[in-house]
Amino acid sequence: MIQNVLAAASFAAAVHATHRRKGAAQEPYINHPLEVAQILAEHGAPEPAILAALLHDTVEDSSDDPEPVTLEALSARFGAEVASIVAEVSDDKSLPKEMRKALQVKLAPKKSEGAKLVKLADKISNLRAIMIAPPASWDHARRVEYVGWAGLVAAGLRGANPSLEALFDTTYREAMAALARETA
Ligand code: ZN
Repeated sequence: MIQNVLAAASFAAAVHATHRRKGAAQEPYINHPLEVAQILAEHGAPEPAILAALLHDTVEDSSDDPEPVTLEALSARFGAEVASIVAEVSDDKSLPKEMRKALQVKLAPKKSEGAKLVKLADKISNLRAIMIAPPASWDHARRVEYVGWAGLVAAGLRGANPSLEALFDTTYREAMAALARETA
């Protein structure tokens, strides 16, 4: 329902109001969840996955706020299924970064179908960002490492949506080819 989609988009925009993407252009952060949700809508994802895509970073990115967004609040406002997908795609920020990255690879195959869709579209959006607007501080090796890691996570997310998986594969190949050209 369009009302729910806009409510989730507005909710996420408010949470991310002061957040910026890491790329050199420092785009408003909300551009990212909007892109993830759009990718899912274009690939026939069910509504709870689209809402969860819009909200997917609201819990993780508000954890240091005076009033952090909780899964309970998301559940009350957008339903239990949406909240549970957001929970599944949120990293445990108390763990060191390398461990969180390893866990994403390990746990990907165990995710629900909705969480697999959101994670895969999230990685597609992030690979596009690496090509178009990489963080200024990321050197070539770090970008190659990121794209390779995204491929490992995506390998565990297969089986939920073949056309979305095909889009990931294309995006992954484009990102690797662009990185290879940089060194040529
Ligand atoms: Zn994301």
